[in-house]
This record gives sequence, C-alpha cells and structure tokens, in this order.
Amino acid sequence: MCSKRLNGTEGAGKLSKRTEKGPTAGKRKVPTTFDQPSRRGQEKSQEWRPDFQLVTLADMRFDLLTIFPEFFAGPFDHGILRRARETGLVEVNVQDLRVFTKDRHRTVDDRPFGGGEGMVLKPEPLFEAVESLLGCSAGEASKPSAADPKTAIVLMSAAGKLFRQETARRYAQLERIIFVCGRYEGVDERVAEHLATEEISIGDFVLSGGELPAVLVVDAVTRLLPGALGNEASSQNESFSGTARSESKARHPVGRASHPSRVARHGLLDFPHYTRPAEYRGWAVPEILIGGNHAEVAKWRRGAAIEKTRRNRPDLLPEE
Ligand code: SAH
Repeated sequence: MCSKRLNGTEGAGKLSKRTEKGPTAGKRKVPTTFDQPSRRGQEKSQEWRPDFQLVTLADMRFDLLTIFPEFFAGPFDHGILRRARETGLVEVNVQDLRVFTKDRHRTVDDRPFGGGEGMVLKPEPLFEAVESLLGCSAGEASKPSAADPKTAIVLMSAAGKLFRQETARRYAQLERIIFVCGRYEGVDERVAEHLATEEISIGDFVLSGGELPAVLVVDAVTRLLPGALGNEASSQNESFSGTARSESKARHPVGRASHPSRVARHGLLDFPHYTRPAEYRGWAVPEILIGGNHAEVAKWRRGAAIEKTRRNRPDLLPEE
C-alpha cells in the first residue's frame, strides 16, 4: 500500500502556510515533533517540550505537477483558498516536473511519433514524479484496484471528460488529488492510459496549459470542503448545487421545470442577487426583495432562478 504522506520531494514547493501542525480543524491526527511556532496571545518560549503531540493533517492535499512552478505564485493567495491553506484545511504542493529529468538539458518534451506539429510531454518524468509523490509505483493507476481510492491522479486535458459541479463534489470526498498539467501539443497518451485515474477538461475550448484548469479545479473543490467558506457564503445554495434552490418544491411553479423531479439535470443556476442602492441609474431592485417577507422572497428567487436557467442554460433543464 502506498504511503500517502511523504516528506517534501526535491523541487517541490509547499504553498500551505501550515501543513502538519496546528489547531485541530481537520479530521486525522498523527504524532509528530513538537516544533510548532507559538500562536498569537500565547507565550513565546516553550518550557515543556514533549516528544510528540497530536496534530492535524490537512483534509485535502493538492499536488500540482508542472513545468512552470512559478505559475502558481498568486492564485492560491487570496480569499477562500488562502484561508483554507492558512487554517490547514488544504495543503498545496507544487512539483517542478524538470526535477525528474535525467539529461543535462532537463528535457520534458519530444517530437511526436508519426510527425506533425508541436511537442509532446514525455512520459518518464511524469511517471517518476507521480511515483515519487505517492511513494510507490504507479504503473496502472488508472485501474481502480491499483489506485488508492482516496487519491485521484488527474490529467488536465482538453480531450478529457467535462469537469462539473458534481465532479467537484466527488473530489471533495478525497484526501489527495495530483494534477498533471500538460503543455505544448499535450501529454504522451500512456499517461492517460496507465498513470492518470482520470482525464478532465474544464470546458470545450483549448488553453495553452493545464495549470489554469488545475487552479480552477482546486478552487471549486476547496470551497466545498466543510469549513472552507466560513459564514459569509454557503455552497449548499449555489448554481448547480442541486439542493435547496433547485430541488425544493416551489409554491408557485414556473412552467414544467418547477416540479422537483423535473427540475434540472445538474441543478439550477443561482438566483440573481442585489445589494444597495435600491435604485441605481433608474434600475430598481425587485420590490419583493425589499419587503422582508421571507416566503415571498424565497418564491421570487425560485422563479428567478428557473427563468435565468431557461435564458442562459436551457440545456440544464429537462426537455419539454
Ligand atoms: N492538442 C491538445 C491541446 C493541447 S493544449 C488538444 O487538441 O486536445 C496543452 C495542454 O493544456 C493540455 O495538455 C492540457 O493539459 C491543457 N488544456 C488545454 N485545454 C484544456 C481544457 N479545456 N481543459 C483542461 N486542460 C486543458
């Protein structure tokens, strides 16, 4: 069985502010050396130093395999993602793929067999990097039996299966996700066949690298982890959430889609939000939202969500 937690790999940059130490915000506990820096409001010197204490691992570890590690300086430093790292909810580890090359030029790509444009990322550094992260051989990771069920190895690919909110919900149940970020013309197909547990696309368009798509997935998954959003927002009632707004029974149905069993394949879109001023350039906020009648507000939001879904994403609604 693979060891899931290894010490830092060469060339790996840990983005989490706190990794295996800190308040017991997470679930799993392991003994480790007591070298925790003093926290605000606590005395600076530690007279009593036990050999170990119970500390918490992050709920989720993300590893990002890339030839551009600097790319990730920034995207994880704001808002919910930053806080999730700071509180130890998630750990983000960026792994430079070139560390796993063996030649002087640290070559990660090569020309495609059969000819054609562009370069292809070679399989060896990718396999070796993932194996180094996992601490075991990963030759047939795509076979479910060979993979740790709590770890996904995700190849970012325009030719992959579409990433959706339900994919994010499934990923949020995992303990670890390793992202393989492609570049150039893409990645040697043996990575999709024998290393990755899944091949994922973020949409029907082609980007120049897998880094942005990976950031997007990390973001979507992190905000679903219990405790990530704090009080200011809830992932229960959002576009695609498929829960409260989309599946609750509307008292005033709007067309066929209002029946719970017919609502939407992937949930409705979110309802429109308004804030002050109540009137701006002559455009008034819907009267009902200002009245303070919660039942009326809920009814209005339900109808507005269905209307907006019909207008912007009719594909989400059941066919007539
Ligand atoms: N030749 C490929 C595109 C390669 S783009 C094709 O036609 O499908 C280079 C890399 O960008 C890919 O290997 C992948 O990692 C990433 N990428 C591009 N578009 C993407 C998308 N929609 N979703 C996820 N990753 C994408």
